[in-house]
Amino acid sequence: MSWRIPFNRPDLTGRELVYIQEALAEGQLSGDGPFGKRCERILEDALGVERALLTTSGTHALELAALLLELEPGDEVIVPAFTFVTSASAFALRGAKIVFADVRPDTLNVDERLLPDLVTGRTRAIVPVHYAGVACELDALTELAAKRDLALVEDNAHGLFASYRGRPLGSFGALAAQSFHETKNFTCGEGGALLVNDPGLVQRAEILREKGTDRKQFIEGRVDKYTWVDLGSSYVLSDLQAAFLAAQLESRDAVQGARERLWNAYAAGLGDWAARRGAQLPFVPPDREQSYHMFFVLLPTGEERDALAAHLRERGILSVFHFLPLTLSRMGERFGGRAGQCPVAEDVSERLLRLPFFTSMSVSDQGDVIEAIEAF
Ligand SMILES: *Cc1c(COP(=O)(O)O)cnc(C)c1O
Repeated sequence: MSWRIPFNRPDLTGRELVYIQEALAEGQLSGDGPFGKRCERILEDALGVERALLTTSGTHALELAALLLELEPGDEVIVPAFTFVTSASAFALRGAKIVFADVRPDTLNVDERLLPDLVTGRTRAIVPVHYAGVACELDALTELAAKRDLALVEDNAHGLFASYRGRPLGSFGALAAQSFHETKNFTCGEGGALLVNDPGLVQRAEILREKGTDRKQFIEGRVDKYTWVDLGSSYVLSDLQAAFLAAQLESRDAVQGARERLWNAYAAGLGDWAARRGAQLPFVPPDREQSYHMFFVLLPTGEERDALAAHLRERGILSVFHFLPLTLSRMGERFGGRAGQCPVAEDVSERLLRLPFFTSMSVSDQGDVIEAIEAF
């Protein structure tokens, strides 16, 4: 089905096809080539992280993080109930027990006030998700992690180039994951990156990403042959995709500028409507810069949310709900998830509607969306 105004549209920023042709001419299409290194350098410089390693997806970056933590069956990992499946499944895959935390009603991020009671002697890690690219309460989280000797693994799939008190997201945890899926601000179709801030984990991260071999050290002349040295899998992004991604990342100022203007236009255009309807717009605390990843409205009830979505659909506009609470999923139940356990996640999941939002969205299309909402 094609929509007059789609929810998302992946955009070319200009040099994607040129760079792909360069990669073809260069003759290296497999991973860790010139374009991959270029992307990693951009991320390292912009975020101030020790090492950025491109991966085949954000999910695979999270799986690499779980491998690096050497989780053992029975170890516990705390994950918000309101997030994408793989914030939890990457750790479950290593045999960890997933412990769900509810989210804050204002930012929809993990509620740091609930965490001290969820930490046990088996807790190994906390996975804060910066929902919609608005930072979690990172002072409280880093303090708790240090005090209880836990790893912080940021799921920063939404929050590339956002910051908390001036410091880039992705630079707080021992490890952090980015996603370049086509629904994210920057894309190469499917892709991701593991950000490594703990220098002690860099070399092992390179090995696990390369199928458990020391191939990278071999190519760089640090060892004279390469062999199987550790656990691992095939997580390196092809340089064909990295070429596409390099073009996207090099246009970051233009991309983020366009998204900021769109986001601000929604906020300004819908303020009166929201006040009239008793709807809630996204909340960004003043001490953090967001990434302009998405724009959502929280209707007073689930029925009104569904009615607004239907009203927009009739006008050819696609708006979509978001995460179903993991506590209510079939896998979540296997970790003790049950109705009523995370009431805020359950409540916002029913009332939240994401509006069309993509870098090339025209001012007139956005005006149509705002008008259609006002007419609801
Ligand atoms: C998109 C997303 C992921 C997974 O990224 P992929 O690149 O699609 O594997 C993980 N966590 C969150 C919060 C996401 O939105």
